[in-house]
Amino acid sequence: MTKLLSTAYSAFIAAAPRSLYNAHAFSKSILRSRSSWAGTRLPLRHRLSPTTPRVLQNRSVFAMATTVTEFDTSIDCKVGEVVSGFRLHREEFVKEISSMVRFWIHEKTGARLISVLNDDENKTFGVVFRTPPNDSTGVAHILEHSVLCGSKKYPVKEPFVELMKGSLNTFLNAFTYPDKTCYPVASCNERDFYNLVDVYMDAVFHPILTPDTLAQEGHHLELDDPEGKVAIKGVVYNEMKGAYSSADRVLAELSQRMLFPDTVYGFESGGHPRAIPNLTWENFKAFYDDYYHPSNARMWFYGDDDEGKRLAKANSVLKDFDRREVSSTVGLQKPWTEPKSFQFDYDAGSGPDIAKKYMATVNWLINTPVDEIEPSELLSLTVLNHILLSLSSSPLRKALTDSQLGEDVVGGGLETDLRQMSFSVGLKGMTEESAPKMEKVIFDVLMNVEKNGFPERMIDASLNTIEFRLRENNTGSFPKGLALMLRSLTTWLHDADPLTTLRFEAAVKDLRDRLDRKEPVFQETVTKYLLNNPHRASVTLKPDPEFSKKEDAAEQARINKAVAGFTADDYEQVVSETRRLKEKQAAHDRPEDLAKIPTLRRGDLDKEVKTVAFDKYQEKGVTVFHHPLSTNGVVYVDMALDMSQIPQEYLPLASIFVGSLTELGTSKDDFVALQQKLGAETGGVSTSVYSSQMYAPDGNGPALMKLLVRGKAVVSQVSHLMELVGDILTDANIDNKERFRQLLIEERAGIESALSSSGHTVAGGRLGAMFRPALWADEQLGGIDFLKAIRKLIARVDDNWDSVVAELRQLQKLMMSRENMVINVTTAASDFGSVKPLLTSFFDRLPEKPESFGSSWISTFSLLPRANEGLIVPSTVNYVGKAANLYDLGFKLNGGHSVASRHLGTSYLWDTVRVQGGAYGGFCRMDVKSGMFMYLSYRDPNIDATLKSYDGAPEFLSSLKLSNDELSRSVIGMIGAMDSYQLPDTKGFASTLRQIVGETDEVRQQRRDEVLSVSTKDFKQLGEALQAVRENGTVVVVGGEDALKKAVDDGVDLSLEVIV
Ligand SMILES: [Zn+2]
Repeated sequence: MTKLLSTAYSAFIAAAPRSLYNAHAFSKSILRSRSSWAGTRLPLRHRLSPTTPRVLQNRSVFAMATTVTEFDTSIDCKVGEVVSGFRLHREEFVKEISSMVRFWIHEKTGARLISVLNDDENKTFGVVFRTPPNDSTGVAHILEHSVLCGSKKYPVKEPFVELMKGSLNTFLNAFTYPDKTCYPVASCNERDFYNLVDVYMDAVFHPILTPDTLAQEGHHLELDDPEGKVAIKGVVYNEMKGAYSSADRVLAELSQRMLFPDTVYGFESGGHPRAIPNLTWENFKAFYDDYYHPSNARMWFYGDDDEGKRLAKANSVLKDFDRREVSSTVGLQKPWTEPKSFQFDYDAGSGPDIAKKYMATVNWLINTPVDEIEPSELLSLTVLNHILLSLSSSPLRKALTDSQLGEDVVGGGLETDLRQMSFSVGLKGMTEESAPKMEKVIFDVLMNVEKNGFPERMIDASLNTIEFRLRENNTGSFPKGLALMLRSLTTWLHDADPLTTLRFEAAVKDLRDRLDRKEPVFQETVTKYLLNNPHRASVTLKPDPEFSKKEDAAEQARINKAVAGFTADDYEQVVSETRRLKEKQAAHDRPEDLAKIPTLRRGDLDKEVKTVAFDKYQEKGVTVFHHPLSTNGVVYVDMALDMSQIPQEYLPLASIFVGSLTELGTSKDDFVALQQKLGAETGGVSTSVYSSQMYAPDGNGPALMKLLVRGKAVVSQVSHLMELVGDILTDANIDNKERFRQLLIEERAGIESALSSSGHTVAGGRLGAMFRPALWADEQLGGIDFLKAIRKLIARVDDNWDSVVAELRQLQKLMMSRENMVINVTTAASDFGSVKPLLTSFFDRLPEKPESFGSSWISTFSLLPRANEGLIVPSTVNYVGKAANLYDLGFKLNGGHSVASRHLGTSYLWDTVRVQGGAYGGFCRMDVKSGMFMYLSYRDPNIDATLKSYDGAPEFLSSLKLSNDELSRSVIGMIGAMDSYQLPDTKGFASTLRQIVGETDEVRQQRRDEVLSVSTKDFKQLGEALQAVRENGTVVVVGGEDALKKAVDDGVDLSLEVIV
């Protein structure tokens, strides 16, 4: 959830768990498209795109306009001239991104700077260093955390956290890759943006690094009293223990590293838990001195701000440095002459099915480096990858699934983040004998491609999908400027042309021309890069029921080694060091230092809530919304069909059914043909279930549940979109036993692996289900109850398929009607006229009323019993949750309490659970609508200590003395979070959802007024409420068996249950 890319680590868990509304958010497959051309991989956030977006058929039907604007934000300057210490090296207008791109080189230091000028208000800055590691101690990753812990101009514990608390940023984080470290920020407010830039620049060029920083962020020995047990602690140490608890991630990591035994890519840049304790202060400091220098820096500015200001800002920091030689070039891996095999043990729990838990991949190194490959060649590889793997109907993916050798396809396909690309594919959930058979399946598909190529329709669908994505460049909540920076770095990092991956039109044209000439493009690509390429590694993970015991023993051995020969005095020393570090961590920053962090004033904030204009009318019983927004020629359609009448026991089946709607085919088209049509004619269709609570002032609004369908297409293709969606809703091919069984098995595998990697979401889901109907429903639709239901359902598909089909048919008749239906279209006003009649004929395809059966879940359900749960999964870290409903406890909530809750998360919980406790994350969520308050931790070494931290929160709030500055900062941060950046499609969709749940602009304005007028009284009141949570709250912990048993022995009241 936090990872931007398979191989990157970020400074903190950026995404707040969406568990309050999306307990089932995690349950979709891991296989994503991952090439630079297809856009940067984004964090897998929610389930609204179960299938990858797809597009139009006929070439050049792209009505998406490329707006060419004159930008008045650039400096009047010719190539070769110098401005603010930077010489203009090159400039080009890149029409694919409607931007002027200028390359500057800093005269004094050689720092490189790309300045992208356009009209995007979401301004983005990034500073990037090449940071090739030379071991697996995680030095680059620990430094990434550490430079954000105080700098010369900003000598506070964590300036980064102050920015998190009190800025309007639309993005703030840092990432470590195997060869680079990136520090990006973004904001729509110019003053705020330059504040962020200023703090980040000072952080990377003038950090206060001390051995204590390394101890806190990296590793240190911890001992609270001389009689106790010594432990290894550290934020990154624990983050990586957590990372190594996710089997999918371990496999991805090893699959990549095994291909590069001779280069920096052979190391674990995040740090291996076994190696992190070997990192010394000297190596840590030397790594910083070697690489964090302007001569090794690449800077990126993007957006509608003034270029002169960019250069002046950068120069003001760089001018104090001199140019120097930095050797950070990433070497190339020598090609192998024959393939190799590797096998590793891993933790698959100790359940009965352990013999069926083998995982394996086949991996190829693409020898031509990304800085040398031809753009059209790179595009061919991207399209090949998309055709082979991106959809369930894709030939390689389908062959692997149909083989029934394993539960789900793994391996990310084409990986373009490193200097040499790789291609990886495999299966998980196999027996030992299946792994070699799997390789044969893979090679059979590739040899078939080599011999016969692909059907034209399949190529069209993929190429159109990729082109649609490139042109739409819809990065969701992720800033476009950052997505483009990461894309550009593919080549720029290795000193090749930074524009190669930003421009795509010539490459697309070239590829289309070659295909028109009937050149065997993909046959050649398969032969050259895969079949005739001996640089291939087969990687197998073998389930070892003793694995976690061995890991624990290995950790104990590391501790023993560290304390070997310790005298009583030495132990005393560790105790006093532990105490000193904790006191230092707990100490408050001096107010005069905090005041140095640049911030906006409360007066700079918009008083008015951001509203989105829309038209609304009724037709044939359906409520129609139109959000007239400029969408570059794309029409976005969102539908919500009513699911409130579903009988309780059918909820899990309904969830699976809805999630599978685009995967089943129809009576006209089998699922392969359907997916190709979606790819060729639309920009993508996704289906999901949405459950929520209606707004009510007392927090007891009724629950509702909707089937959401979201689709997009260019204007000329909307009729195809509506027709295909109509087919999917009314005519899904339900009676396909094998297909349905496959989908169930994939779903089960997806949830089981999410248990170890997103345990906080699971814990939050369980807790919510004890308090509110809509959250209870979420648990049935995607939580532990859902997992249990799926396991039973798989058995029933085998034993009594007819009964399953009968239920699916009933569900179809119940859900697919116009009753209570809502539809939204987001597109320019001028395009809506041609869409409107298509809606009318679409409505005619749906019956007016549903065919009900049984009683609605809303009238029969009962919440989960409020009991403390310990859910055992394969993991060496824990996820600790505690929650209660504040309305039920007699409290009234307003926006001011949200500010206090947010402050609690970014200060007290960050300090105690993360900084002192060593967890990767500690936070809380409060929802004014439902009254839920929830504490959660992420990749946490503790259980009991974390619960004690939670219980200290009321005391923290009641004794809190906030200065006016700090209070303002909290307000600014809260407003920033409320005004999160949205692209037009999201604006229209979010506005529609607000209408559905009854959250009016008046309610939102009231909430905003309360936030803006927050006072210390609100903090005290929340403190009182949390006192009640302390006494009445319920606890759910997801974690490893040993840790949970130990917690119970130590007196934590939990009833344990093995989930995997
Ligand atoms: Zn990290």
